[in-house]
Amino acid sequence: MGFDYDDQNIFARILRGEIPNDTVAENAHALAFRDIAPKSPSHVLVIPKGRYVSFDDFAANAPAEEIAGFMRLCAEVVAKEGIGLDGGGQGFRAITNAGPDGVQEVPHFHVHIMGGRMMGPMVS
Ligand code: C5P
Repeated sequence: MGFDYDDQNIFARILRGEIPNDTVAENAHALAFRDIAPKSPSHVLVIPKGRYVSFDDFAANAPAEEIAGFMRLCAEVVAKEGIGLDGGGQGFRAITNAGPDGVQEVPHFHVHIMGGRMMGPMVS
């Protein structure tokens, strides 16, 4: 059992600087960058700098300070994009896909923060 992290996944390569990214914000524990194929006017991915496969891996195994750093970077992104409720934004959707049923394409935990338009139905 356990989570099997692939060091060659594309977000691991972004974190190593092998592939460029359009950075929105960064702190000691996490990196936020624009999705290469945005599905909304604002579509930012937030990833931890540690080696976590998915939400359940991160939630179960990351130290509390890494979780806090990750969440605070999510908050920074929302504020910077002008979509947060604190400051009069219109809101956003924050989602994470895990494994085959969640249709996760990249096996490094990430949250999609999407805003700038009204979202459609949550399940499709
Ligand atoms: O399905 P999953 O949640 O894993 O989605 C991965 C996301 O990563 C996609 O929205 C895709 O457009 C994005 N991506 C990216 N840059 C890459 C490769 C994938 O932003 N180089």
